[in-house]
Amino acid sequence: MKKDQEQMNNNQAASADGRHWDASNRRHAQSERKQGKAVVVFSGGQDSTTCLFWALQRFEEVETITFDYGQRHKSELEHAKAIAGKLGVPHRILDMSLLNQLAPNALTRDDIAIEQEEGELPSTFVEGRNLLFFSFAAVYAKQIGARHIVTGVCETDFSGYPDCRDVFVKSLNVTLNLAMDYGFVLHTPLMWLDKADTWRLADQLGAFDFVRTETVTCYNGLPGDGCGECPSCKLRQAGLERYLADREQEGGIS
Ligand SMILES: [Zn+2]
Repeated sequence: MKKDQEQMNNNQAASADGRHWDASNRRHAQSERKQGKAVVVFSGGQDSTTCLFWALQRFEEVETITFDYGQRHKSELEHAKAIAGKLGVPHRILDMSLLNQLAPNALTRDDIAIEQEEGELPSTFVEGRNLLFFSFAAVYAKQIGARHIVTGVCETDFSGYPDCRDVFVKSLNVTLNLAMDYGFVLHTPLMWLDKADTWRLADQLGAFDFVRTETVTCYNGLPGDGCGECPSCKLRQAGLERYLADREQEGGIS
């Protein structure tokens, strides 16, 4: 017991001052806590990559799935695959191209501009996307014997997307359990965090530099700090600046 505690303290110290992550950390973290198997709904962006690190600290086995719904930038899928590869996590791409047939939107169509009118949902919104994604994730998770499903949805910066709300996720969790007679647990570690808090979480997980340089959040498909101009880059950058200012004031993470 004592030895375990010491090792855990060592791990925390290591992730606090080396702001990086490597496969040996992951293997160690996985061997410390035997808590079943999880599927992370993974886009290769800041939020879902932070969720992936979060899951790797908690679950014995972790897999990732990415949905291909005809994103404008195929590089998103390649980055997602590359990130999973670097972290040594199994990754699967599922074809969801029917989503674009049902609901054309600015994420999939070049001829629809990325914009948001006041009081309306932004043109990047896809009706029912999370309902479909989480349901497909659950079907896949049960098939591989995973009970835990981790997603990066967040109500704090949610831009009015109804299926990012906590009440929706809780409702769907009950529905999925009834639909498949199975004890799924939907995890949403970012639900109440703003973008600055999400950077803080990545830092606490020892993944700050990795998330900053490897992930793609930009609507123009550029990795890291992105194009700097699109709404997604601006949101990410504003959160990063707020977090870095806080961190400096606190004299570094401890
Ligand atoms: Zn951008």
